[in-house]
Amino acid sequence: MPPVPDPTLFDKVVNLCKRRGFVFPSAEIYGGFRSTYDYGPVGVLLLRNVKEEWWRSMVQLRHDVVGLDAAILSPPAIWEASGHLQNFTDPLVDCRKCRERFRLDKLDDPNECPNCHAKGSFTEARHFNLMFKTYAGPVEGTGAEVYLRPETAQGMFVNFKNVLETSRKRPPFGIAQIGKSFRNEITPGNFVFRTREFEQMEMEYFVPPDEAGKWYEYWCDERLRWYVELGIPEDQLRLRAHDEEELSHYSSATSDVEFLFPWGWDELEGIANRTDYDLRQHAQASGESLDYFDPALGERYVPYVIEPAAGATRTAMAFLMAAYDEEEVAREGQGQGESRTVLRFHPRIAPYKVAVLPLSKKPELQEPANEVLGLLQPHYMCDYDETQAIGRRYRRQDELGTPYCVTIDFETLDDRAVTVRDRDSMAQDRVPIDALLDHLEPKLS
Ligand code: ATP
Repeated sequence: MPPVPDPTLFDKVVNLCKRRGFVFPSAEIYGGFRSTYDYGPVGVLLLRNVKEEWWRSMVQLRHDVVGLDAAILSPPAIWEASGHLQNFTDPLVDCRKCRERFRLDKLDDPNECPNCHAKGSFTEARHFNLMFKTYAGPVEGTGAEVYLRPETAQGMFVNFKNVLETSRKRPPFGIAQIGKSFRNEITPGNFVFRTREFEQMEMEYFVPPDEAGKWYEYWCDERLRWYVELGIPEDQLRLRAHDEEELSHYSSATSDVEFLFPWGWDELEGIANRTDYDLRQHAQASGESLDYFDPALGERYVPYVIEPAAGATRTAMAFLMAAYDEEEVAREGQGQGESRTVLRFHPRIAPYKVAVLPLSKKPELQEPANEVLGLLQPHYMCDYDETQAIGRRYRRQDELGTPYCVTIDFETLDDRAVTVRDRDSMAQDRVPIDALLDHLEPKLS
């Protein structure tokens, strides 16, 4: 049976995020700042893990991709050449009746206002440019205008020559970058799904033009696999090819990796064949040649580019949604039933890998607890918690998605062993402190 979205999941995850310190509304003490969010102590770890896993698979485990960290502030010339000044627009309509504003291309029915249900109440569509503009230096005005990048990709194109000359890479090769992008979205919403400030993970893979089709297929498969390997169930993921009208101004083919969000299928990542559009545009506008002489072929060509472009913040949200579970369980140690909420993150995505929990705050347990913490911290991100009943502390760690809890009790003082509790099965093993790292390593890697 195909999976069905669960609309109740959205509020549950948003509440959990606030309650446990994943995501806070920005500037909350001032009443909040619409559709901006801050990542709390646990959320920052989740987001870092998402980015780290992407970097590991895209850069560290490959020999054909190198990294880059380009500037966010950029001169109009870049966006003029890339086509963003002219084309990076969304069609905006206003409802004349309730005055709400919408993106025309995201409406289910372009003739009916989803807010007040008036028919035919929309204004003519206006094209609204999504780029944030600001001014560099003390004088505001023409000549001082700069843009916050709306995608990280252009940093890779304008550095193509620098990287080619310094990295000894030759097509097919890629440049990867993770960083903030900014879009003045008309309708931000669905929590961190669509925000005006967000993080992207993008890679531009430069290939000989006649190999572009092959590499496009390759990256579609690779990228889908990444999400599955990190624990998103396969039936909650799909690849969807864009039809002709949906394609961006630079693209000859695009497929989206989509996830089954509580409101239905929606995009996590786009994989696009950007052709030689960007390099040609920048070469023409800057006067620099951005082609490549292939000594084996004895030919000069402008590489085609295959781009897997993912959102880090949006992907973190998908991992949260996919991990969320509620179940009835026997109360640990008592046998009575209770329900628990658990985030079943893949260990590589989980914010904390291990929680160190001395059974009581008594001073004699502090020394072995510190010893265990000191043993684990160089290897794993650990939480430490010594107050409240142990059952409540386990529930808290379940809600953070911590795969293992290590409990230090009074027996530890005699046998130098600890209890290791598994998040998913709730099974408990007694493990000598000296064997703890070896016990955890295969489970957490
Ligand atoms: P959409 O159609 O949802 O506006 P897009 O197709 O314009 O997105 P791309 O330009 O392909 O998005 O950007 C690549 C990725 O960056 C998206 O798949 C998404 O994960 C992320 N992304 C884009 N815009 C936002 C945003 N406003 N907030 C959070 N993530 C975003």
